[in-house]
Amino acid sequence: TRSTRPQRMLKAVQKNATKGNPQSVISAIDYFCKNSEWAMNVGDEKGSILDSVVTEVNPSTVLELGTYCGYSTVRIARLLSPGTKLITLEFNPAYATVARQIIAYAGLQDKVTLVEGSSADLIPQIKERFGITTFDFIFLDHWKDRYLPDIKLFEECGLLRKGSVLLADNVICPGAPEYLEYVRNSPRYESRYYPAHLEYTKAEDGLEKSVFLG
Ligand code: SAM
Ligand code: MG
Repeated sequence: TRSTRPQRMLKAVQKNATKGNPQSVISAIDYFCKNSEWAMNVGDEKGSILDSVVTEVNPSTVLELGTYCGYSTVRIARLLSPGTKLITLEFNPAYATVARQIIAYAGLQDKVTLVEGSSADLIPQIKERFGITTFDFIFLDHWKDRYLPDIKLFEECGLLRKGSVLLADNVICPGAPEYLEYVRNSPRYESRYYPAHLEYTKAEDGLEKSVFLG
């Protein structure tokens, strides 16, 4: 049977990247997606905005919603200080299988815990399951209609502290209008838009950074 796009992305990594070198994994995926097949990774342009936010926050606890093949997981994990743990959630088992291999190829498996399941089920379990008090940094990049219910779940579950930073991808394309309206109008967040383009295209898209004020 024909291979899937994630499997072809993994092949491109195994062929063109250097084991244990996260930057080469990122470059191999970007090259594949620009030249062979588009895929829904955050990509290089928005990826460098993601890098600068992660570097600025220097988080000790990180949550990612939506792993897909692990591209953004590798981007974030490569910037984390020793001892920092990144938890990433993915509900598609086939994507999770590829992501585990890409994360391991980059040599980042010890920094990353990939949990299979849906965000709505897993977010309420995170505190107990992983001994997390609050997250310093959260990257939202799963299905866009889940951004708003899941940020409300973070609040309800007490996973945010004063100064927690949320970064949401694709707030313009495909778009997360209810989420944007919420973080921009709630007095509990200070929110800012970072304009860019949809991964590997010229279409407008951007990231929304929202700091929880408590
Ligand atoms: N963050 C990845 C990157 O930039 O490399 C891309 C993630 S992709 C845009 C979104 C992923 O979220 C898909 O793999 C999808 O299966 C997963 N997903 C969507 N809704 C989810 C949910 N509620 N819980 C867990 N995973 C979800
Ligand atoms: Mg995205």
